[in-house]
Amino acid sequence: MNVRGRDAEVEKPKSNGGKFRFQPRPWRFRMKPDSTCKIIFLHNYDDSLLLREHKFDLVGSGAPIYGNILTCAEMVGESCPLCEVKKRHDLGVIQLSRLFSIIDLRPYKPKNGPEKKYQKLVLCQPDTMDRQFSHLAAKCADQRSNGSDLRGAVFEVDRPAEQRSSAIGTMYDFIKIQKLSGSKNYADEDLIPYTDDEFGVNMELLEDAAQTLVEKLKYAQEDEDGDAEEVPY
Ligand SMILES: [Zn+2]
Repeated sequence: MNVRGRDAEVEKPKSNGGKFRFQPRPWRFRMKPDSTCKIIFLHNYDDSLLLREHKFDLVGSGAPIYGNILTCAEMVGESCPLCEVKKRHDLGVIQLSRLFSIIDLRPYKPKNGPEKKYQKLVLCQPDTMDRQFSHLAAKCADQRSNGSDLRGAVFEVDRPAEQRSSAIGTMYDFIKIQKLSGSKNYADEDLIPYTDDEFGVNMELLEDAAQTLVEKLKYAQEDEDGDAEEVPY
């Protein structure tokens, strides 16, 4: 199959409009470089969710933009369209992610509606920070006698100025344990951690993403060569 013919009926991926076509819901916790914020954990460490995720860039800018995230189909024992693309091309990364539900205490303005004092989000801890997080959890557990570790723990999080620093921040300073049940500050449903159900495998989106990546690769290659030539696919 020639995926690079100029006659192929594919639209060139937009340089910015197509950037984040596969933004995961629920929304992920992210910080700007050179900022701090406070968060409250809703998941205990042992109850957090482990996912195999594809992260990929649809812009081809060379910058590490991985705003597109999809759960790998191999999580449910299916053959995965994005893994198939990845076998042939070096596109995106596959990451083992540990997900925690959190309350982000930065004020948040929904598109339709009044400003809220907080936002329930998902904190995606990369594998490289696992040692740090398990250590934080163990320290919290030592201070408590109810079997919990991170749930209810409030942290001040700092992200350094470097653009390439982790989007979830790098320094987690423990502040206190906050009692969550019966709190009037938060809606009851916002204190319930997300479950596996929210991160299910979506075959349709995986196939769409695989197709989009192959098309992106085709155009990136043409821009480079100024000419089309067949690439084994
Ligand atoms: Zn996969």
